[in-house]
Amino acid sequence: MSDVVLLGAPGSGKGTQASRIASERRWVHLSTGDLFRMHLVNDTALGQLAKSYMDNGELVPDEITVDMVRDRLERVPTDARVIYDGFPRTVRQAEALDELLTDLGRSFARAVLLDVPRDELVRRMTKRATCMNCQTVYNLATNPPKREGVCDRCGGQVLQRSDESPQIIERRLDVYEKQTKPLIELYAKRGGLRRIDGTGDPLEVAKRMSEAFA
Ligand code: AMP
Repeated sequence: MSDVVLLGAPGSGKGTQASRIASERRWVHLSTGDLFRMHLVNDTALGQLAKSYMDNGELVPDEITVDMVRDRLERVPTDARVIYDGFPRTVRQAEALDELLTDLGRSFARAVLLDVPRDELVRRMTKRATCMNCQTVYNLATNPPKREGVCDRCGGQVLQRSDESPQIIERRLDVYEKQTKPLIELYAKRGGLRRIDGTGDPLEVAKRMSEAFA
């Protein structure tokens, strides 16, 4: 199946949009951030390894990340389409994804970039809270859960992530600029990169996303 890579800085809305598209179209949502957080919650060896990188806003090393993606992708039927959220994040990971797709009989359709200015990213992440169970994202200023601290969707606990302190947010954005932004150029050169304005109401952004996949 032809898979889709969703690019964008932390806080650009990748998780929200990928999860919506995946449930509407029955695609598989593969979020490396969510996978790492699941390992953290379950206190696996991989979770323990990833923790210090995540806490400091750094990227988990490529080999560890790629092995985790391979493990997940091997369990996806070849006729199911995957939307990658938060992967690849380095040039090495992009190369590894190409290899994985070939090995597993999959193909690449296009990359979509959610474009949001840095000051808006900081504003969003400072107000962001996430359900620790189903990963639904809330904005405590504009879209809080109906009951404080309780997820509307699953009743799980809604908290601000530990990597969303002001200092770590800036660090994560610096890491994005340095290590992930070059991927925009890389996918643009291959052709088929769609840039989407990621500002404004999430429903409006979702409409723009749907148009990009029409
Ligand atoms: P996210 O929720 O996508 O912002 O990811 C949270 C954290 O998980 C990141 O700050 C990294 O520490 C780690 N992480 C997620 N995806 C990757 C990736 N593709 N490569 C390396 N580290 C990652």
